[in-house]
Amino acid sequence: MKPFTYARASSVQDALRLAGTTAGAKYLGGGTNLVDLMRETVERPDALIDVTALPAEIEVTQDGGLVIGAAAKNTALARNRTVRERYPVLARAVLAGGSAQIRNMATVGGNVLQRTRCTYFYDDAARCNKRVPDAGCDAIDGFNRMHAILGGSSACVATHPSDMCVALVALDAVVHTDGSAGSRSMRLVDLHRLPGGQPEVETELTPDELITAVELPQLPFAARSTYRKVRDRASYAFALVSVAAALDVADGAVRDVRLALGGVAPKPWRAWKAERALRGQPATRASFHAAADAELADAAGLRDNGFKIELARQTIAAVLAGLAGQRP
Ligand SMILES: Cc1cc2nc3c(=O)[nH]c(=O)nc-3n(C[C@H](O)[C@H](O)[C@H](O)COP(=O)(O)OP(=O)(O)OC[C@H]3O[C@@H](n4cnc5c(N)ncnc54)[C@H](O)[C@@H]3O)c2cc1C
Ligand code: SF4
Repeated sequence: MKPFTYARASSVQDALRLAGTTAGAKYLGGGTNLVDLMRETVERPDALIDVTALPAEIEVTQDGGLVIGAAAKNTALARNRTVRERYPVLARAVLAGGSAQIRNMATVGGNVLQRTRCTYFYDDAARCNKRVPDAGCDAIDGFNRMHAILGGSSACVATHPSDMCVALVALDAVVHTDGSAGSRSMRLVDLHRLPGGQPEVETELTPDELITAVELPQLPFAARSTYRKVRDRASYAFALVSVAAALDVADGAVRDVRLALGGVAPKPWRAWKAERALRGQPATRASFHAAADAELADAAGLRDNGFKIELARQTIAAVLAGLAGQRP
């Protein structure tokens, strides 16, 4: 592992000051992803700025939403009473990730910015455009069972690994940041980029930009929401397909819906087309399948992952049917 310096920031201002005066620095959350990548020499920062002492509170906002400090641990988020009662999809998504020990270490900011689990990305003997721009991509013609069916490019077909982000994107989360150019807020759905010809550029953030909080708007019908993760093992495995959904049904029809997918795309995938197809339709299996078909119309399988298209279709329909109170 390359030598690096370490400093612990005492506040957001302190973190930004350290970032501005330390060349080659990266922020350090729980280190559950970054330190692994440093061991593999995929990440080679000169300095780490520990941001785990920054705000970690989870608080109801004046307009009834919820603000989550970026240093909040994944465990604290999943255990929070307001999250469990008002946004159960988020508690379930967080609990579907990693193991108890990892969730005890991992922070919300770090979870948002965790990097892909594409095995070629971790293997420095493999060609990977994300690790070495213009090197090529060994996944496209290689073993690509875990890779993307939506949103990939000829340069990269890696999936985004976060479960938490899928729920946050479904809930219209907003990310608050601070950096040398000042503070700003953006929708989480706009933070991660699709790979296009530049898979090494994964987000809209600038290098010194610090995530300070994630905010959820009030969404009363999210009390009826859930997360389902389909994976090879019941724990300690990343999603083949996951679905985050909240459903509002009145008089047998879909009044409103929020739907996002994980395990299928290079970013947490908001299923806008499925949502549009569903609003105002009868809350029936036929409508749920039609909505899934609308979302997946552009999906394309690679050599080993074509099964994900039907898996996603069935999982979307099953999750929505469950939220509508229908039998599986
Ligand atoms: C064995 C294993 C299994 C796992 N399984 C799952 C799973 O099933 N589902 C899942 O979703 N995840 C899974 N994970 C990943 C885990 O959720 C992430 O490693 C974790 O969320 C990262 O959080 P962290 O605080 O440790 O981030 P770190 O590793 O500290 O940082 C990750 C990145 O975020 C940046 N960063 C951290 N905080 C900030 C901030 N406030 N502002 C700006 N940048 C910041 C860092 O610079 C780094 O680039 C697994 C991890 C392991 C090791
Ligand atoms: S899919 Fe992306 S991350 Fe994986 S090898 Fe190809 S370029 Fe690298």
